[in-house]
Amino acid sequence: MSRAFVELPVVDHAANAARFNADAERTGWHDAALWHVRRKRDQAASAVPEWEALRELASQIKEHTLSRLDEYLVAFEERAAANGVHVHWAADAAEHNRIVHGILELRGVRRMVKSKSMLTEECGLNPYLEARGIEIVDTDLGERIVQLAGEAPSHIVMPAIHVKKEEIGALFHERMGTEAGSTDPQYLTEAARQDLRARFLEADAAVTGVNFAVAETGGFVVVTNEGNADLGAHLAPVHVACMGIEKLIPKAEHLGVFLRLLARSATGQPLSIYTSHFHRPAPGRELHVVLVDNGRSDQLDRADFRASLKCIRCGACMNTCPVYRRSGGHSYGSTIPGPIGSILTPGFDLEKYAALPFASTLCGSCSDVCPVKIDIHQQLFAWRQVAAREGAVSRSKRRMMRLVGRVFGRPAWYRGAGRLARGLLRSLPRRLLYSRGNVWGRSRELPEAPRHSFGDWFDEHRGNR
Ligand code: SF4
Repeated sequence: MSRAFVELPVVDHAANAARFNADAERTGWHDAALWHVRRKRDQAASAVPEWEALRELASQIKEHTLSRLDEYLVAFEERAAANGVHVHWAADAAEHNRIVHGILELRGVRRMVKSKSMLTEECGLNPYLEARGIEIVDTDLGERIVQLAGEAPSHIVMPAIHVKKEEIGALFHERMGTEAGSTDPQYLTEAARQDLRARFLEADAAVTGVNFAVAETGGFVVVTNEGNADLGAHLAPVHVACMGIEKLIPKAEHLGVFLRLLARSATGQPLSIYTSHFHRPAPGRELHVVLVDNGRSDQLDRADFRASLKCIRCGACMNTCPVYRRSGGHSYGSTIPGPIGSILTPGFDLEKYAALPFASTLCGSCSDVCPVKIDIHQQLFAWRQVAAREGAVSRSKRRMMRLVGRVFGRPAWYRGAGRLARGLLRSLPRRLLYSRGNVWGRSRELPEAPRHSFGDWFDEHRGNR
């Protein structure tokens, strides 16, 4: 099984990706599986004639919400409180964890079920509560797999996409006593279902994430394919919903826009299987909402990067990204990996995550598929400039960039460098071409050098000579 990312002071995406790439077979099917999901997304999107209009509308609704986020948050709090919901505010991850623990401790909770929530991953809620004697069971199947394996999710929608079914079979055999050697997905899923069912019934509390919260009504929506959030929230006497403050939308009528975009972008489904609306606690139960900032206000302040807060966490930018598909989610060393993670995380800690904006070809495919039209590749480019300006880029990379900049800025140098490279590619012995100094050649075959550049060919055929 691929190893979870090792927490380091500085994320070295290239080194982490090289570890993932060492298993060529895994890299191949990881790439293919995600590309399959990307194609399903394309088919689903092309079946909706007004798809582009929906994207534009969603983008504008989010833009508007972010411009008046403070007002909408207060409106949400007032309506939710009037509905009997306890609303809490957390400035950062530590406060979020303290609040959730406080709620659970007061009610004597010892066992808790949790549906998929990237926010609680971001805040490190599981280890925090486990250290205080509370048992947490992740109930999304993918999350349960990575929890049992002691790993972090590698994708925000498909947390265990990096794990082979043979590995899941071995893991379930060891942890749940399933038949040795069984890799049948249906059998393994049924075993997990039975195991989880007992834990749902035993739980004293349920924690869920929030996909959308509606300022107008004080209600919120949780979307799943497995119904695990509903089962947890409806069986346990206490439901705690944790949400980043950017999850807000102004009105209930806006939900349709986002729900039509979310599932199609995420998995190519017209709609997720369960779309559950929560407004008030059931009689005799408690419902809490924790509104978490944890760096989001700072991101809102950054004009070039505030649009990243429009994200509805569909994962489409990951599925389409050629770098993500071939380097795996753990290589990013952040809770949210892939293109969107690479524009969110430098805002948390530029020094630690400075490598991430460079983990991109800047092909722009992420921006093209994003259902809320975030200019992801532009922001990746902008973060590179910030990282260079702030000295968060290594000296050797800065030197190399300066040199390449000079060559690119002088057509004669550029043509000369091209001629030299083509000549060397043709004449140098393989031993030298693929020496240790050539990092590109370490994991790929270099292209066959053409005799002439495209520019030469173009000039010749345009008759400019
Ligand atoms: S940035 Fe866009 S494509 Fe990526 S997860 Fe967020 S909403 Fe989806």
